[in-house]
Amino acid sequence: MIKVGITGGIGSGKSTVCKVFRVLGIPVFESDEIARQLMNSDPETCVQLIELFGASVYLPNQIIDRKYLAGIVFSNPSLLAQLNGIVHPKVRDVFTAWCKIQHSPYILHESAILFESGFYKLMDKTITVVAKENERIERVMKRDGATEELVNQRIRNQWRDIERIKLADFVISNNDDELIVPQIIEIDKKIRANG
Ligand code: ATP
Repeated sequence: MIKVGITGGIGSGKSTVCKVFRVLGIPVFESDEIARQLMNSDPETCVQLIELFGASVYLPNQIIDRKYLAGIVFSNPSLLAQLNGIVHPKVRDVFTAWCKIQHSPYILHESAILFESGFYKLMDKTITVVAKENERIERVMKRDGATEELVNQRIRNQWRDIERIKLADFVISNNDDELIVPQIIEIDKKIRANG
């Protein structure tokens, strides 16, 4: 089965694009969501995170404090690497098991950090969703009620479009004045035809 990684910067519209692929019958593995679930519910992951970051990394309701965690790893590349070293191999295992039970010509692996994490190396093809930065900022401010400063900070913490585009096999342009469905149908055809 062909594995297709899909990524894009914050607010680019990855999830929106994935919804369309789902309508076409393509299963989507949500990598970031699985990572979140592992951090909240996988006992081994929880123990390892507490060992590394202390018990305050969990809120009183046992949910990971993502803000606290982000605050720590944001300025500490070594801790970020250790966090990834705990979570990424487990996400990869869940992904491998998930792939085995899919029955479709191809699947999508959605991740905001597909390239940064190196996960793209497990994929046969990759798609990058791009949109103008000002539109992305407006969308996320509206969606999350986030400040412009916070969205900008997240953008600066991710790869730039130009870097993602260099590594991508397909690029979907999702600005407000563009249609994504024809672009998706074209890519779907190409993947089904050639892999
Ligand atoms: P994140 O990395 O933050 O999860 P994302 O890349 O998955 O973001 P989406 O959640 O799909 O992005 O889109 C961000 C917001 O912008 C959503 O509220 C979505 O409905 C909206 N949106 C997506 N595409 C468009 C578009 N072409 N025009 C207007 N709004 C859009």
